[in-house]
Amino acid sequence: MKTIAAISTPNAVGGIAMIRISGDRAIEAASQIFQPVGNTKVTEMRGYSCAYGYISENGERLDDVVLTVFRAPHSYTGEDTVEITCHGGLYLSRQILALLYRCGCSPAGPGEFTKRAFLNGKLSLSQAEAVMDVIRADGAAQLRQANLAKQGKLHEHMFSISGQLVDMLSAFAYWLDDAEDMPPELERDTLDANLQSIQQKLQTLSENYQNGRILREGIRTVLLGRPNAGKSSVMNWLCRMQRSIVTSIAGTTRDVITEQAKIGEFTLLLSDTAGLRSTEDLIESIGISQAYQALNTADLVLYVVDAAVGMTNEDYETLKKCSNIPVLVLWNKNDLTDADPPQLDVPVLSVSAYLADSTAPLLEALRGIFASAVVSDQPGIMNERQNALIQHAVSRVSECRDMLQNDDELDMIYFSLEDAAQSLREIDGVDVSVDVIDGVFSKFCIGK
Ligand code: GDP
Repeated sequence: MKTIAAISTPNAVGGIAMIRISGDRAIEAASQIFQPVGNTKVTEMRGYSCAYGYISENGERLDDVVLTVFRAPHSYTGEDTVEITCHGGLYLSRQILALLYRCGCSPAGPGEFTKRAFLNGKLSLSQAEAVMDVIRADGAAQLRQANLAKQGKLHEHMFSISGQLVDMLSAFAYWLDDAEDMPPELERDTLDANLQSIQQKLQTLSENYQNGRILREGIRTVLLGRPNAGKSSVMNWLCRMQRSIVTSIAGTTRDVITEQAKIGEFTLLLSDTAGLRSTEDLIESIGISQAYQALNTADLVLYVVDAAVGMTNEDYETLKKCSNIPVLVLWNKNDLTDADPPQLDVPVLSVSAYLADSTAPLLEALRGIFASAVVSDQPGIMNERQNALIQHAVSRVSECRDMLQNDDELDMIYFSLEDAAQSLREIDGVDVSVDVIDGVFSKFCIGK
């Protein structure tokens, strides 16, 4: 395999940059561009040791750096690896990388270091995917889940479920060899109970994944309310900037404006809409139909009511249209009135977007509404690829249970079970095609 090199730190100026080299020729290539201050040559350095020295080009010193050596197999990739930590200039780090290319190193592709770690058996595929999830996590819950998967907890959990399937498949293999001797595991009731237990475990994984979408991807939130209730002001308050045009003229927000707001562990993907009322104005009516569309895919409606005006028939009518989506009513402009918030069958929060209230009560309300999204300490699946494989396995297991119910031949069940087991193996990269592997790592950043 080629020796690869890349800058592992972001493509930006910073205090420090790190260039990573991995492969058979990593140590030799590093030794060609690095002059140690001490007496130990790079080629003589032991694994897990570092040295201070200089990188020079044509006799001119480029930078003083720290060089760390990892000897195979005790490195991230499982290969000989060198990491050069230099000052964080873009020109500088690119010059050092160019020197390495001249010494025979090849540019690393996206995720190629982690791909090599996977191919060298240092990580399972789900652990490798979790590395990227750790990098992308932007909240404590996501980081916790990513770390569980990176530590191999998902791998262990999948292994125990696959183990149940493998035990069944072994019993089948035994029976297919000798049809006279039926192992007790293949008694129809026992078989069904085992299949049901596997199905439940897989379904829980899939449900937790769906629930976790709220935390991973954000809450698709539609702002609704009568004109002038303060929707745009709420949007600006949550986003802490002037994004929507705020005026006292009804119908100012004619299209759907989208913005993100971070509230504790949640990200609100806010759509400030023109509302759902009827209008003669052509442009506004387009905005209103867009509001209906946004509602179709929404996870949450933030319904803004002008507390100084109180609940109107239009408010009650619109709330009825949102009956199948979680709704949080914001009793806005509470700085203008002492009127008590209304008693509704959805949560109501008294706020003043104008005075930029603290978002803590909103966070509490969101935690109540999206309680099921709060990620547990159990390992969970992390992406669509894994979820698709789990769902495939669930449908095959449920097919097996149907066949049992219908008194179908047992050998028919065997093939469906084998297919389910194959899906679960794929989650961890066992028996997967090169295309699957390439697909997973193409989503990584260069240098990881
Ligand atoms: P929208 O039509 O629902 O988007 O309403 P806007 O956000 O444009 O607000 C309408 C008017 O209400 C503006 O003049 C805002 O300054 C005012 N407003 C919004 N929220 C508050 C609030 O909490 N308190 C007060 N006093 N005025 C507010």
